[in-house]
Amino acid sequence: MNAQQKTGTTTGTATAHRVVILGAGYAGMAAAIQLAARVKGRDGVDVTLVNAQERFTERLRLHMTATGQQTAELSIPQLLEGTGTRFVRGWVTAVDAEAKTVRIDDDRVLPYDTLVYGLGGVADTSAVPGAEDHAYTLSSAQDAELLAGRLERLAGGTVVVAGSGLTGIESAAEIAERHPRLSVVLLGRQEPGATMNPKAKAYLHAALDRLGVQVRNRAEVVKVLPDTVELAGGESIAADAVLWTSGTRTSPLAAAAGLSVDDRGRIVTDATLRSVSHPDVYAIGDAAAIRQGYGVMHGTCQGGMPTGVHAALSIDRALRGKQPKPFRFGYYHTPVSLGRGDAVVQFTRPDDTPRRICLTGRTAVRYKETVTASPWPTYGRMKKMPASGAFWPRGGRFTRLKGTK
Ligand SMILES: Cc1cc2nc3c(=O)[nH]c(=O)nc-3n(C[C@H](O)[C@H](O)[C@H](O)COP(=O)(O)OP(=O)(O)OC[C@H]3O[C@@H](n4cnc5c(N)ncnc54)[C@H](O)[C@@H]3O)c2cc1C
Repeated sequence: MNAQQKTGTTTGTATAHRVVILGAGYAGMAAAIQLAARVKGRDGVDVTLVNAQERFTERLRLHMTATGQQTAELSIPQLLEGTGTRFVRGWVTAVDAEAKTVRIDDDRVLPYDTLVYGLGGVADTSAVPGAEDHAYTLSSAQDAELLAGRLERLAGGTVVVAGSGLTGIESAAEIAERHPRLSVVLLGRQEPGATMNPKAKAYLHAALDRLGVQVRNRAEVVKVLPDTVELAGGESIAADAVLWTSGTRTSPLAAAAGLSVDDRGRIVTDATLRSVSHPDVYAIGDAAAIRQGYGVMHGTCQGGMPTGVHAALSIDRALRGKQPKPFRFGYYHTPVSLGRGDAVVQFTRPDDTPRRICLTGRTAVRYKETVTASPWPTYGRMKKMPASGAFWPRGGRFTRLKGTK
């Protein structure tokens, strides 16, 4: 019997090992479904999934939500039916890593033997004065709906999108397409598509130009006011709405619990996705700082789902007295929507540097939609065939850490 099994406590008549998964985003859902499918029919393992809402948030579509488009109603409890996983709806307010408990809505306490931490990340509005108070974000479906309401009410004026990363680009394009009466300004330190190959980047710029998005590179926002954005150098841009997409930060819960975190609050993991300070805690998705041969992974759905699956496999192995395996993941694409009728897909090397090949136009739109729609059916398949969710590019030499095979 290994350490994890020894810690199981008696619930009812059976001694159960309690696995609590925090966050039912892309990574947490993958972890819950994969683990439930692996331990199904086996006595002694309880899986509980905690999330703020019962509806699954398709983060990849939040720029659509922000422009008033309806997305599918995906019910987490319904998907979990038949898996044996318990769903707890609530807001996690604290983790006690010594007592091994999680506090929900400040009034319920859930004990765990193994914790999977997948609470994701939010837009970092703390970096610039005024952003927290005056800027909209795409941190949750509710935040996106707030922006949708504001845009709907504007008869004209300017929307400033701060941050020229992928979320900023997709949002600026979507807003310009859906609300042609509004001027859209995309501000960022780097030019949009900076990491793409010249062909993909040129296509992206031409699409933003066609949609009327004004791109401002090397722009550093220093202050957000109710109706203005101030830039370094003294320039001000009048703004009827500001969308903040620059940078991400994670929940302070992990740091407050005494877990080792990096400078963005992400839990630092070992090669098997366990916290380096608390091995009974696994960290997945955007909330984890996971080192690969090319560096620390950045937050994506393409990498987040594999981390959830891998954490489940590691927990299952540990419960069966086996050694968890190292996690390896190599990127393969950067799909970017440019409104509903256009897109560009940059294929990448495992370290996320661009390959020469890219897709554009209708082919890219179909590719992007296939990718965006794929997580939910993938979870459904995993319920019956857990192995179907365990395929992803391992990244070859790019992901190998020194001293590992
Ligand atoms: C507009 C947009 C477009 C994107 N496009 C792409 C793309 O094309 N490809 C790609 O790979 N990535 C894309 N991303 C990034 C991708 O969405 C994230 O990397 C991914 O969602 C991370 O998954 P996660 O499970 O770690 O976190 P999340 O999906 O954010 O899930 C976290 C979950 O935890 C819940 N939660 C958080 N805090 C608490 C709490 N205290 N209590 C209870 N529940 C809590 C949240 O409600 C949520 O359900 C995009 C992001 C945005 C915003």
